[in-house]
Amino acid sequence: MQQLYYRSTRGGNAQATAAEAIIAGIAPDGGLYVPAWLPSLQISLEELLKLDYQGRAFHIMKLFLPDFSEEELLDCIDRAYGEKFSVPGIAPLTKGAGVFFLELFHGPTQAFKDMALTILPHLLKIAAQKQDLQQEIVILTATSGDTGKAALEGFSGVQGTKIIVFFPESGVSPIQKRQMVTQTGDNTHVIGIDGNFDDAQRGVKGMFTDIDLLAQMARHNFLFSSANSINIGRLIPQTVYYFHAYLQACAAGDIRLGDLVNFAVPTGNFGNILAGYYAKKMGLPIKTLLCAANENNVLADFFTGWIYDKRREFVSTMSPSMDILVSSNLERLLYNAYGENAAKVKGLMRELGAKGWYQVTGEAAANLGDFYGGYASEADTAAAIKEVFAKAGYLIDPHTAVAYAVHKKYRQVQQDETPTIVVSTASPFKFARDVMASLDLPVAEDDFDVMQALSSYSGIRVPAALGNLKSLPVRHRALCPKDRMRQEVEKILWK
Ligand SMILES: *Cc1c(COP(=O)(O)O)cnc(C)c1O
Repeated sequence: MQQLYYRSTRGGNAQATAAEAIIAGIAPDGGLYVPAWLPSLQISLEELLKLDYQGRAFHIMKLFLPDFSEEELLDCIDRAYGEKFSVPGIAPLTKGAGVFFLELFHGPTQAFKDMALTILPHLLKIAAQKQDLQQEIVILTATSGDTGKAALEGFSGVQGTKIIVFFPESGVSPIQKRQMVTQTGDNTHVIGIDGNFDDAQRGVKGMFTDIDLLAQMARHNFLFSSANSINIGRLIPQTVYYFHAYLQACAAGDIRLGDLVNFAVPTGNFGNILAGYYAKKMGLPIKTLLCAANENNVLADFFTGWIYDKRREFVSTMSPSMDILVSSNLERLLYNAYGENAAKVKGLMRELGAKGWYQVTGEAAANLGDFYGGYASEADTAAAIKEVFAKAGYLIDPHTAVAYAVHKKYRQVQQDETPTIVVSTASPFKFARDVMASLDLPVAEDDFDVMQALSSYSGIRVPAALGNLKSLPVRHRALCPKDRMRQEVEKILWK
């Protein structure tokens, strides 16, 4: 059989190996890399049932990475999914309030980005060896909070890489800032800028396309790469936990092998839920994928009327990682919905850029039937946090609460009693202020006091990595004006 390769959603003639796609991040024509077909499992669910997270990850991920040897992949998995996670099951499933919660927040930064960003650096390092790249890889990232810290943790101490993160000095939460400026690892660099997230993002994008800078980089033996969620190397590891969730429900006797389940996924950039769609296409018995949005409800509307329309007010909500109006990874789903017609996808993306909206019609719309779209208001979100704690004594964070609230609406409207797994994307302690307020409890001034109060109230211990932040030494103090970012990078790399 032909070996799996990667193509661009926008056509071009890009045909890449997994290693090439992971290093490049984005295809040369501006499209996203997608597998040329979705591989089927070569092992039965019964056999997968006997394995742990790492074993499952191996059998699933190797289908997407045919150019990696078994030893290489096992080594990556071993380095990523071990002691960096605070629980041996990596992504445990908890039952309560009429659903299952798949906890994806036991990694180093207490949010789901860790599921992929703990392994991406190792995949990237091996990919670079395969391509015989002599350069050192420099990960350049602008962050509004969560991604930066997860990428720093992932790349910290990984040989042959450096990571430089720019964040808006006064645009992240105090906890998020502490998480970043206390980061250890000689290859990590964190710099605050005197602008907002858009300024940071613009500065980073500018460097990726600055021909003079790229030439100097090459001269000094460096190569930029991206840890952003459009990198296929972040999507592949995420398919694993959909299988892991299902198999845990089987092992507990709550469902039988072969039974259908629904997943409710708190969605922003559409990376998490797209991995669920891939898992379904690979043979996991999923009935419906509930795409849950917050008040930035572009996706909820899309799955209701097949019109994607970003022309609306941006809302800042208590689930900030989902405050997004253009979900990059949806482009990959469109590619499948249009029967891999890249010209069609390219056309839709052009329409989105030119007029701010596009419509999916006919057979392509019919192909989106695996999804249901819904959204939760801020009030719905707070009510969900309160309800789950009242019913089950279980704390959920605002992102997870959005998914729970949408699942409730879906169940009412569709009368569908299929067992549902709510994907839980962050520790409630990471968003302790909003969780306390949702529970109608007083919210203290200091963030560490708020975490402590939430812990006392719930009887759940503050995750060590968050509680310890208070006493960790600050290691990064660099600040720079937003128009001097390039000079900072040069200073770090060769000046
Ligand atoms: C990133 C993130 C999401 C959204 O995931 P996407 O893959 O962007 O859809 C949801 N919740 C949390 C806590 C996140 O960090």
